[in-house]
Amino acid sequence: MNLWYTEDHSPHVRFSFRVEEHLYTATSEFQKIDVFQSTEFGRILTLDGYVMVTEKDEFIYHDMIVHVPLATSPAIEKVLVIGAGDGGTVRELTRYPNIKQIDMVEIDRQVVEVCQKFLPKTAAQLTDPRVNLYFEDGLKFVRQQENAYDLIIVDSTDPFGPGEGLFTKEFYGNCYKALNDEGILVNQHESPFYAEDARGMQRAHKSIMGFFPISKVYQAHIPTYPSGHWLFGFASKKYHPIEDLQADIWNELGLKTNYYNTKLHAGSFALPNYVKELLIHAE
Ligand code: SAM
Repeated sequence: MNLWYTEDHSPHVRFSFRVEEHLYTATSEFQKIDVFQSTEFGRILTLDGYVMVTEKDEFIYHDMIVHVPLATSPAIEKVLVIGAGDGGTVRELTRYPNIKQIDMVEIDRQVVEVCQKFLPKTAAQLTDPRVNLYFEDGLKFVRQQENAYDLIIVDSTDPFGPGEGLFTKEFYGNCYKALNDEGILVNQHESPFYAEDARGMQRAHKSIMGFFPISKVYQAHIPTYPSGHWLFGFASKKYHPIEDLQADIWNELGLKTNYYNTKLHAGSFALPNYVKELLIHAE
């Protein structure tokens, strides 16, 4: 069998996986959901034709979106997660005994159900007693929150379709309001490499900077995302991600991670010159 899944990474670049089986396809109220069994990357979840997670490289994304804020502020107890229907972000958060409450707001219940069935490695901890699942629009949910969370993680789709609102000024302003005085906001920040993704990244950076006194960008190498070079945003009312890094405290927790470590934490904020320039232009 010669079956391939192909995604457009730019109008002129495509990325393909060899597929052994198309395990699931459906169109929910919000998006087209597919699950493939691939030869190299294991199971793959795509939404509207874009890769969200693969079994082989999801650890990189989830390590970086969770452990960077938790190593900066190990006292975090109350977390809001927006999107993240595959469950990988919640899985990493539940490894911290200190965390008392995780509210996860995912617009599409069907994504969660599909991941619980086909991607148990990422979705398994969604049943942890500390996790409250809300199936609603994250944009609307944060409007009603004030001074309520230590950490907000925005683990969203790209800035079009249902995820569009999660890249707006209104949303980031409401995240600021929903956080307490020590609060941290971490978001998936798109890629700097291809022009369209880079514009999304610049828009997000500009909007977040307008609200938070500390607003930094860090990077990771994620093979299945466009260009493989992916960014995350770290914004805070109080904590600087390098100056306040609690490396000893985090290392004493003894969490085994395949990508994250506290040296890489500091290094991930050292950006290539072209990315620094894109950020300066956005500012
Ligand atoms: N790691 C992924 C990436 O960067 O491609 C994101 C994974 S996660 C599956 C993204 C989730 O965000 C999807 O399940 C989608 O349904 C959800 N989502 C999109 N827009 C949303 C919104 N407005 N409110 C809440 N969840 C939303």
